[in-house]
Amino acid sequence: MHIGGTARYFAELMTKRDVAEAYTFAKTKNVPLFVLGAGSNTIFADGEIQALIVQIKHGHFFIEKNRVKIDAGANLATVVATLADAGLDLSALTGIPGTVGGAIFGNAGQGPAGVWIDSFIETVTEFVDGTWKTMPRSECGFGYRESIFKREAGSGKREEIIWETTLNVPSGDPAKIKAAIEEMLKKRAAAQVAARTAGSCFKASGDVPAWRLIDAAGLRGLKIGGVQISPKHANFLVNTENKGTFSDAVGIVERVKKTITVPLDVEMRFVGEDGEICF
Ligand SMILES: Cc1cc2nc3c(=O)[nH]c(=O)nc-3n(C[C@H](O)[C@H](O)[C@H](O)COP(=O)(O)OP(=O)(O)OC[C@H]3O[C@@H](n4cnc5c(N)ncnc54)[C@H](O)[C@@H]3O)c2cc1C
Repeated sequence: MHIGGTARYFAELMTKRDVAEAYTFAKTKNVPLFVLGAGSNTIFADGEIQALIVQIKHGHFFIEKNRVKIDAGANLATVVATLADAGLDLSALTGIPGTVGGAIFGNAGQGPAGVWIDSFIETVTEFVDGTWKTMPRSECGFGYRESIFKREAGSGKREEIIWETTLNVPSGDPAKIKAAIEEMLKKRAAAQVAARTAGSCFKASGDVPAWRLIDAAGLRGLKIGGVQISPKHANFLVNTENKGTFSDAVGIVERVKKTITVPLDVEMRFVGEDGEICF
């Protein structure tokens, strides 16, 4: 969204050794460690964030028949397109910005009734509280926009760095997969917002999409400072004229939560100046 300040500490992680060093560094400095993928669903406070922000830059992937080993820093759109060339169908994840690690963390997919990344996952390897661990899908606690990584990191109990995954991807005809990708991209372009946004702000409440509740409450188009609920997509916040601030975005979330009686969870990550998640 082009909102936010600077990080007290920042590192790009390319190797397992970098991960262990970053973990120790954060402990030594006594600051939280916040993991960033591509930042497509995250905004940071204005000012200096008192944390070590690490960005996962480890982004290769290896195909062996239907099994694909992918590093967490790989760009999801690149993975989808490359697998299509290889006759592997991950087209259900077309058009979702960000990294594979970010997608696993939030179990990215096409809405509550759609296909989510977890349906392809066999294992996830992570660095958790100083230890490397490979977990089968059954232990990853996946649900709609949920995973054990997100729950544990969100509770502040554990620091979770997703490092790589193994997916099992069905075969298909490359031409048909590419046509499906094109079709989905066209639909997205028509429905989505071509502006500075961090994607869906709120999670659906049960079967009811958040945008419908926001719309019904008359909040579509609401503007606080330079941040607006998109007139085109009522679950997207946009930074209008590039003048929005973190507190404008927080103000919008607070107004939505106050106005709508149904409890709405915040999907977007709002990282405060103390390096902790705000909602
Ligand atoms: C225009 C637009 C459309 C979108 N459409 C969709 C959609 O259809 N479906 C959907 O699910 N999402 C959608 N999103 C949201 C976003 O693309 C996803 O949430 C995406 O998976 C985030 O990936 P990222 O790498 O950018 O994560 P970031 O924003 O960098 O991080 C998101 C969260 O994941 C954590 N995280 C990231 N990488 C790791 C890691 N390696 N280890 C541990 N934690 C990690 C971060 O700490 C943070 O809490 C959309 C966003 C935009 C801007």
